[in-house]
Amino acid sequence: TPTLLWLRQDLRLADQSALLAAASEGAVIPVYVLDDDGPGDWRMGGAQRWWLHHSLASLADDLEKCGSRLILRSGPAEAVLRRLIEETGARRIHAIRHYEPWWRKAEAALEDVLCLHDGSHLVPIEQIQNGSGEPYRVYSAFWRKLQQHLPPGAPAPAPENIPAPKRWPKSESLASWALLPHKPDWAKGFSAEWTPGEAQALARAEEWADDVHDYAEMRDLPGEEGTSLLSAHLHFGEISPRTLYQQVHRRAHADKFLKELAWRDFSAGVITALPDYARRNGRAKYDKLGWRSGAAAKSDLRAWQQGMTGYPIVDAGMRQLWHTGWMHNRVRMICASFLVKHLLIDWRAGERWFWDCLVDADYGNNSVNWQWVAGTGVDANMFGRIMAPLTQSEKFDAGDYIRRWVPELADLPDSAIHDPEAAEALPKDYPAKIIGHREGRERALAAGRKLD
Ligand code: FAD
Repeated sequence: TPTLLWLRQDLRLADQSALLAAASEGAVIPVYVLDDDGPGDWRMGGAQRWWLHHSLASLADDLEKCGSRLILRSGPAEAVLRRLIEETGARRIHAIRHYEPWWRKAEAALEDVLCLHDGSHLVPIEQIQNGSGEPYRVYSAFWRKLQQHLPPGAPAPAPENIPAPKRWPKSESLASWALLPHKPDWAKGFSAEWTPGEAQALARAEEWADDVHDYAEMRDLPGEEGTSLLSAHLHFGEISPRTLYQQVHRRAHADKFLKELAWRDFSAGVITALPDYARRNGRAKYDKLGWRSGAAAKSDLRAWQQGMTGYPIVDAGMRQLWHTGWMHNRVRMICASFLVKHLLIDWRAGERWFWDCLVDADYGNNSVNWQWVAGTGVDANMFGRIMAPLTQSEKFDAGDYIRRWVPELADLPDSAIHDPEAAEALPKDYPAKIIGHREGRERALAAGRKLD
């Protein structure tokens, strides 16, 4: 009798602990279930669906090379898997553990037939807890503790052959899932930027190992390619975190990078303790914050989404996001802060937009970072801490980045690029600021003070 291998955000063959366990028992049926019910409001967004389509196509090819297949089914995960067990007579299901609340629910419902394995994070989340047996709320303490568990175990190589069952169950076709956009094809720019799939994830990690020494200096400069660009590969599990760890950790100055990589683990801990973190403020005090709503706030939200706020650094970031499904981390912080503080719009509206637009959209990473920027979260960041977008733009030398993503401003000199309005160099087709920096800042501080 075969066993099922339930693939989710672990679309790889190398260092695939669940695959190894399944193959050690005999014939394996790899299955991917497209479940749009379980996640509810966090069903995969448009950009992720684009990535998923290509990642699944690549995984199906890789499985065929090992004498196996990828079975595709759609519907609520638990029901679909139980039906597959009946159809195939499978003994049990092997899967890598994930921490999103809908996955944990499905895992609990399948407990009697499911064998879970670690592999989505550097260290199993349950192992990194504070003195009271709870997940850490402050990153620096978390990182100190995590380091005690490093290095992670050695990654396992991909198998050459995967034992096949005598009969394969039917598979839905990838095309029938219509994961790719059409009319209009807003993902035209994605293919130029990304190649989803395990082969590219591994190749990129190898390349990155040669560049990691410059990470500390380059990571905050949006105009440079100074970060790994691995976030979507990591989210979909096309490379295991320990494979990445092994690639880079001996390189000079890799520690700064590993410290950032571990934010994934931190976020997973937060959503394990607080599964509603994308829905609820980490600190209840902020439930009473007077977020703006109504027509003016709606139109400001739209200007932010479209990259038409009159702040070049914000607009460049929002347009990079739209065109490529990714945004530089420093600019994510600036754009998020601008929405929450300068426009006084609820961080959840920003979380939603990012969820739909990011190829790396990740329940834990997105909600933890949004709440961190907003200052509403469980960590120590304050609502009253307000980033100054123009100063940030100058400090991180965003001139060329702005020229690339906001072509209306391409011809402006360095002296005008960060704030064309103040330099009286505003082109006709580019808006004036939708709110002044001081005005926005004062309004946010006043809203925060009301809660004290
Ligand atoms: P690198 O700098 O090369 O980092 C390597 C890896 O470490 C990343 O791929 C990522 O897996 C992890 N990592 C780095 N920084 C963070 C961080 N602050 N939090 C969590 N993990 C981190 N990241 C996501 O993966 N998904 C999201 O949905 C997401 N939403 C965000 C929303 C906001 C408002 C902000 C400020 C940040 C968000 N991030 C998110 C974190 C970060 O911006 C991205 O992980 C990073 O920009 C991805 O690019 P990279 O792979 O080149 O990163």
